[in-house]
Amino acid sequence: MLAIMGFSKQYPALMENLRRPITGFTFAQLSEELAKLGKEKYRTQQVFFWLYRKRVRTFAEMTNLSKEVREYLELNFYIPAPPQVSMQVSQEDNAHKYLYKMTDGKTIETVLMPIKDRLTQCVSSQVGCAMACAFCNTGDMGLMRNLATHEIVDQILEVARNYPDSITQKYGDRITNIVYMGMGEPLHNLQNVLDSLDILTHPHGFNISHRKITVSTSGLVPQMLELGKKTRVNLAVSLNATTDEIRDQVMPVNKRYNLKALLDGCKEYELGPGRRITFEYVILKGVNDSRSDAQRMLRLLDGIPSKINLIPYNPHPASPFLRPELPELLAFQKYLLDRGATATVRFSKGPDILAACGQLRSKEALRSKYAERAARV
Ligand code: SAH
Ligand code: SF4
Repeated sequence: MLAIMGFSKQYPALMENLRRPITGFTFAQLSEELAKLGKEKYRTQQVFFWLYRKRVRTFAEMTNLSKEVREYLELNFYIPAPPQVSMQVSQEDNAHKYLYKMTDGKTIETVLMPIKDRLTQCVSSQVGCAMACAFCNTGDMGLMRNLATHEIVDQILEVARNYPDSITQKYGDRITNIVYMGMGEPLHNLQNVLDSLDILTHPHGFNISHRKITVSTSGLVPQMLELGKKTRVNLAVSLNATTDEIRDQVMPVNKRYNLKALLDGCKEYELGPGRRITFEYVILKGVNDSRSDAQRMLRLLDGIPSKINLIPYNPHPASPFLRPELPELLAFQKYLLDRGATATVRFSKGPDILAACGQLRSKEALRSKYAERAARV
């Protein structure tokens, strides 16, 4: 140990590369790491407490650990704190949109939404997305890369470290709900998403109930079934069309897993007692908003414990669709409600700061998009 410490003093840059982000380790993984060095298991509990309850930025602040353990942590790990590039607050609904820079310079967005008694955070799981849905700004970027486990966790941790007073006065210092509905297809990065869920729900970690976390997917059926086997968080499925013809056009994933495959997967999905799958439905004016769509939707969801979440399309520059008018939207909802379905409308959050569903996009993607366009002209 002493020899390593001497080495680290002489070659700090080299040691920097060897240190790993500690917020990427699940409780079991960190216990294993500490056990290798004969550190008692309860150390993991202490480290988790400091990381996720106290949200410290340095190992030196973990005052109930021995100096030896702190030095060991210092040598082998670091506590990431991604630099904040910007933070915008919506004047309309107080949504806070944060932009963070990752170590490779890529930026990701996360949105904090204080709504009544809930403080919900929407997190990203990838930089960009490979699924190429026609109505989505993130999809238009293509996939740049998966986020590492720690990069998913750090979004929540870093936002929590810096809650503005207006948030803490109302909600204390604890998030109540998390939705994986930011940039990316979470099930396309399944293992890292599962590990991040483990850290968020662990009693010694954030200790957020599984019932308060929702993972949303465009419909990667095998990964969806695996998610159901491995965790009890809520599932949301982006349905977005009621015929294969339209779904093929707006969500290319439908060519791989069509509506029948998707809904059979939903029927097979292991739901706990009293739990339901949320079906998200982005309403695109004149495309998927007819009375027949509403009828077909009820038929498709028959036999699946479900809630329907209607999302009026949020316009963005890269897509040709139109937002539905409010009366039509409400009529669509009423048709479903009158027939016994649970159907809510999700009005967009932070419309003035492009924080809404499908509007997130990393800064450099915008830059390269404009560069691309400029090159074509
Ligand atoms: N990739 C996952 C989760 C992120 S997208 C998924 O697709 O489910 C979160 C939600 O935003 C999805 O239901 C998606 O259909 C919706 N969405 C995407 N673009 C949108 C837009 N322009 N307007 C409204 N909702 C949109
Ligand atoms: Fe990806 Fe979801 Fe956007 Fe589709 S809607 S491109 S799956 S982020």
